[in-house]
Amino acid sequence: MKDVRKELERLSSEIEEHQYLYYVKNQPKISDLEFDQLFSKLQKLESEYPELVSPNSPTRRVGSDLSNDFKKFNHKIPVLSLENTYSTQELIDWATKLDLDELYSLEWKVDGASIVLYYRNGSLEHAVTRGTGGVGDDITENIRTIKNIPLRIKEKSELIVRGEVYMTFTDFEEFNKENSGKYANPRNLVSGSIKQKHSYQVASRPLKIVVYDAFSPEIKKFSTHSDWMDFLKLMKFPVSEDMEFHKVSNFSKIIEKFRKKKEKLNFPTDGMVIKLNSMKRREILGNTTHSPRWARALKFDATLKETIILDIDFAIGRTGKITPRAKIEPVELLGTTVTYATLHNQDYINEKKIGIGARVLVAKRGEIIPAVEEVLEISKQGIFRLPDRCPTCSTKLIKIDESVDYFCTNTKCKARVLNSLIFFCQKKQMDIEGLGEKQITNFFETETIQSIPDIYDLHLKREELENREGLGKKSVDIILKGIEVSKNKDLRFLLPSLGFSEIGHRVTEFLRDAGYKNIDEIIQVAQSESGRDRFLSIHGLGERTVDSILSVFQNPIHLKLISDLKERGLKFSFDEINKSKEQIFSGQTWCITGSFDNFQPREKAVEIIKIYGGSVTTSVTNKTSVLLAGEKAGSKLDKAQKLNTKILNESEFLDLLKSFGIKWD
Ligand SMILES: [Zn+2]
Repeated sequence: MKDVRKELERLSSEIEEHQYLYYVKNQPKISDLEFDQLFSKLQKLESEYPELVSPNSPTRRVGSDLSNDFKKFNHKIPVLSLENTYSTQELIDWATKLDLDELYSLEWKVDGASIVLYYRNGSLEHAVTRGTGGVGDDITENIRTIKNIPLRIKEKSELIVRGEVYMTFTDFEEFNKENSGKYANPRNLVSGSIKQKHSYQVASRPLKIVVYDAFSPEIKKFSTHSDWMDFLKLMKFPVSEDMEFHKVSNFSKIIEKFRKKKEKLNFPTDGMVIKLNSMKRREILGNTTHSPRWARALKFDATLKETIILDIDFAIGRTGKITPRAKIEPVELLGTTVTYATLHNQDYINEKKIGIGARVLVAKRGEIIPAVEEVLEISKQGIFRLPDRCPTCSTKLIKIDESVDYFCTNTKCKARVLNSLIFFCQKKQMDIEGLGEKQITNFFETETIQSIPDIYDLHLKREELENREGLGKKSVDIILKGIEVSKNKDLRFLLPSLGFSEIGHRVTEFLRDAGYKNIDEIIQVAQSESGRDRFLSIHGLGERTVDSILSVFQNPIHLKLISDLKERGLKFSFDEINKSKEQIFSGQTWCITGSFDNFQPREKAVEIIKIYGGSVTTSVTNKTSVLLAGEKAGSKLDKAQKLNTKILNESEFLDLLKSFGIKWD
């Protein structure tokens, strides 16, 4: 028992550490796949020792689909989920090992909400959500309203049928149009629909069901899955029309066919399900605690692709960090052609056994740069090793604190200086027109600009620049004007642009929200005895960040930079938020999630809402008035839907602003 407790604690803290590295530091040490494995290891152990589960276990963040509005129902069979595979080869490997000569069923994995139907004496008694797998919500009244479910069947024996509630794309679009487009996708609409309080609300929604498995304690007459499916058809259940039965030797051809057909389907699917056909073999193989050993899902994950590493290069960034990246055989990922994938760091390379020539899976998730997730076949050249010295200045690379990364610590390293200059001028930072990466690099190499203050002395060299080849009066005008304009950017942009460790847009915003008006106030507090406590009391600032703020503003080099820039007229104070007279969002609490085309960074949207009287919080609660959901909105969107919070997408928000004559640029 004591060992189990220790193991639970060990797994929990390992998962928490990886969550921190992934969500906070943006420096994952392991792939998503490995993370999932770690997570399910913890889930499994917890399900074996439920009495030892801590209320703060990382698994508790996930929640189940249980809600308080429905009666609970103890499932009569374990309602398992499927283990995922991500490539055809991986799936073929699994099936080859399991049984080369047996038939398997291949079918769509419909993306909706899972449901278990219980029949007795020929009528539907219970319809239950998967819930925890052991206990689900009894939503029979709601499910009864779905029109393609047989409520009465000829078979009188006890029968348990598993299926998926879903919505076709055409039905979804039509329904969404009638509801002013407030639903993000069919899957979310389905899971919200089946949990409505009143079944008449469900009846008005165009839901459908498809069934894919059946069990009966009484019927033993079927020796194969295909016989079961024929029986279900006979009982007038909607069974997937595309179900096929094949041996492993046919898999790659059939899977390819499914992949091609996917785009033309009128219902959402995230891949296929492959199951052993023989019921006897299924029985022998049995289940793990979470999934059957005789079935796998094959995810058609648009975010994951197989490719080959052609070469590996590396660069020193503005912080001195060396980042390796793989040049890969180009693949399409989420509509873009990807030619490079990040390898994170040497630890990651070692752990994955990454080398030039390796066959790998690359993934692109959200806005993050594509990464090599998994090695399918190790390179003959062995594991790649990064140099131990900076390729630019030859300083020995070292690990800093507990970081997994190696750094060039030479603050005068040319690669570092150049990259901080590029960073400073970027669109998200000072946004200096005419000073893109190419021009800055050119000025750096010709020693025209060697530091940030040099940018603001550039006007002194106007004449010389105008006579330079490839520049001319017009371009010089644009650049100098761009530099001049950037002086109007307030501290909100200036401070993050300086690239001080941990002080980005978010931290800067926290400081402003805490009432700091300018850099002098921040420096004064940072240098005072009570500085640490005062910063720690600011909402959003953790110990790590505060320690970094203190050391940044106690460092004479940084203070010199600040005073040099002050002399050149840069704005080290925050602009007052100009509260508009029209407080159209007054009294409203907004939450913002996802990414936006017109608001980058999305703090720009926060700003607008604040100017017009609204407040903005970081999580969705029952006090949230509106959720503004951009692309790739995740759990916040789900939560808002559950709470029936008003949801606006980007174009609706723009329309709203337009209707009040508000400009957002
Ligand atoms: Zn260096």
